[in-house]
Amino acid sequence: MKLRQPHHAAPGDAAARRAARPVVAYRPDTLPPVDLAGLRARKARLTQRRSVVAAPRDAACIEVPAGAVFRIVCTGGPQVGDLNLWNARDLTERFYAGKTRALHGTHLSTGDRLWSSFPHLRPMATIIADSLDWYGFDADGASVHDVIGTRCDPYTARLLGGADYHQCCHSNLTRALAAARALDLDVAEGLVHDVLNVFMCTGFTADTHQYFMKASPVRPGDFLEFVAGIDLLVGLSACPGGDCSAEHSSDAAACHPLVIEVDTLPEGAEDDWQPPEPVPYDRSHGT
Ligand SMILES: [Zn+2]
Repeated sequence: MKLRQPHHAAPGDAAARRAARPVVAYRPDTLPPVDLAGLRARKARLTQRRSVVAAPRDAACIEVPAGAVFRIVCTGGPQVGDLNLWNARDLTERFYAGKTRALHGTHLSTGDRLWSSFPHLRPMATIIADSLDWYGFDADGASVHDVIGTRCDPYTARLLGGADYHQCCHSNLTRALAAARALDLDVAEGLVHDVLNVFMCTGFTADTHQYFMKASPVRPGDFLEFVAGIDLLVGLSACPGGDCSAEHSSDAAACHPLVIEVDTLPEGAEDDWQPPEPVPYDRSHGT
């Protein structure tokens, strides 16, 4: 946090330095374009449905083949979900929230992509529908589906004076991944990563730019829908914060389940889906 009383006097040309023009670091129009109409047309052919439920204060994983649609649905009441994505064939390739934020902004919606970690940097999933897209940014500067927050976790909770709490999203995702792939708990924990905060309503305070959360506007029936670029293992935790209107990392909040639905082509149908390739950087790093 910046000092309210700086230790150093401003230089004489401080105003001129502050007046430098902001330049968007990564212009979205320089990214490969998204064919939303094509992705939506594909969705009409995906007539097989499976689903899994992330129980309150717990997480679930589900396999999603490349080219399938997956949809996170609010069913029981206002509830925030913490989403992790792994390449189903190589769990070390995973969602890169920080680079996704740099490319698309603090909060995601339709047309944005969830990019994977280095050395891959390819779109693991593309958002094709968002029933909360009407929310925009509110008077507090908040919006939904952020890639700012990391995930609630027992280490920070303990650091800040709480007791050991085992139903944080970090632990929920760790247990779910360990169970889905028969991994040791510590191996699974090392693969859990920063999330997309689905349905969570967050921003930065106007004065100190601190991360804040407020009651999610999500209601039963709301959904966020994606097309999987590559074969994915999708993990989702129903956050112990519930709608995240007050606190997380405790049993205080009302919590509800979240559903992940997966729509795929019927058995035996011909598929022309082309998974995106990793970025072809030569990886010599100047040596
Ligand atoms: Zn959480």
